[in-house]
Amino acid sequence: MRNLLLIRYGELGLKGKNKNQFIGRLVRNMRTALKDFDHATVRSSWGRLWAECNSDQQDEVIIALTKVFGIYSISPVIECDRNLEAMSEAVIQIIHQYLPNGGTFKVETRRADKTFPMPSPQISREVAMLAFKQLDDNYDADFFTPELMVDIEIRTEGVFVYGGKIHGAGGLPVGTGGKAMLLLSGGIDSPVAGWMAMRRGLQIEAIHFHSFPFTGEQSKEKVIDLCRLLAKWQGRSVKLHIIHFTEIQKAIRINCPEDYGITIMRRMMFRIAQRVAKEREGLALVTGESIGQVASQTLESMSVINKVVDIPVIRPLVALDKEDIMKVAKQIGTYETSILPFEDCCTIFLPKFPKIRPVSAEAEEMEQALDIEELINEALAKSEQLNIK
Ligand code: ATP
Ligand code: MG
Repeated sequence: MRNLLLIRYGELGLKGKNKNQFIGRLVRNMRTALKDFDHATVRSSWGRLWAECNSDQQDEVIIALTKVFGIYSISPVIECDRNLEAMSEAVIQIIHQYLPNGGTFKVETRRADKTFPMPSPQISREVAMLAFKQLDDNYDADFFTPELMVDIEIRTEGVFVYGGKIHGAGGLPVGTGGKAMLLLSGGIDSPVAGWMAMRRGLQIEAIHFHSFPFTGEQSKEKVIDLCRLLAKWQGRSVKLHIIHFTEIQKAIRINCPEDYGITIMRRMMFRIAQRVAKEREGLALVTGESIGQVASQTLESMSVINKVVDIPVIRPLVALDKEDIMKVAKQIGTYETSILPFEDCCTIFLPKFPKIRPVSAEAEEMEQALDIEELINEALAKSEQLNIK
């Protein structure tokens, strides 16, 4: 048997002229998400999107679609015969499935095929009355705030009945917003930031600064694993740039005052990330920074760090509490990997008293001791690129 799923999208509808492009992208992303299901198909008709699959695949297909950004909700659809009895059977089936212990519902009909000889409100009423004959006292009608809406759609192609929505991931389809570079550490925050950026339609490539041998193979593996998890949401592989950061960290440690170490290190990260972005046609940097979490995340610090780039820096987590961020990390499946205890390059050279309110002119002065161009070129020359699926 074949099962039909109705796919609802939200904001796409608001995008005016771009609408077709957005829907085209969403359909392609859905097809990619379902490519491993032999008989699953996606189509756009009657102003909506539909997925079709074999019945035994339905649960897995729904799970795969809940990872596709741009989808707001998914409803399994029952196709039935063109008469009121069949419609009421389908309505009852949906009510039992989504309100197993009773509750209130409302039936609403759309009659796209006007040859069906009864106006929509009357169809809804009669179908509901037939359904009531078979439902016990735990069920009631509610026209204003029903717990469950059951929709009947009558078309020349058939009669479709659906209710109960499964929440989708929301947002906009990946790829509709251009590309951005995610500064991905092994921590909890940056994978969440990347996920939020993808959810707004951005495609991401990841940049990771690695300080071998101070940070070991395991910390690199951890970042690769995080990219693998993000790739599931992106719907395609995530390109990961691993930047060899050891010499830069050593140079900062030897040549610059300790309290500015973090500030200067992060300025170097931003400079390199901007270079990679320009090469890869990325339009922005995305970081997991949030206000006030650590010394480098005061507004003063952010502004001194930001001064070295002209590309926009997107900080999706900027106003979130750690608790909120952890909750999202758990939901999207990155938390367990993020908390593995492997050193990040930021933690190994951590000064005892980092400058909480650094000053731009001071940072610039201290950087005179560094051959910035040379350091960046060397780091990039030793960098590695992987495509993580
Ligand atoms: P996270 O949980 O993402 O590690 P954090 O709370 O540890 O963040 P910081 O160490 O100040 O905060 O890092 C802030 C942001 O800088 C990170 O979210 C990430 O975007 C970027 N970043 C830090 N370290 C690295 C790294 N080794 N490679 C790439 N990006 C990094
Ligand atoms: Mg970190």
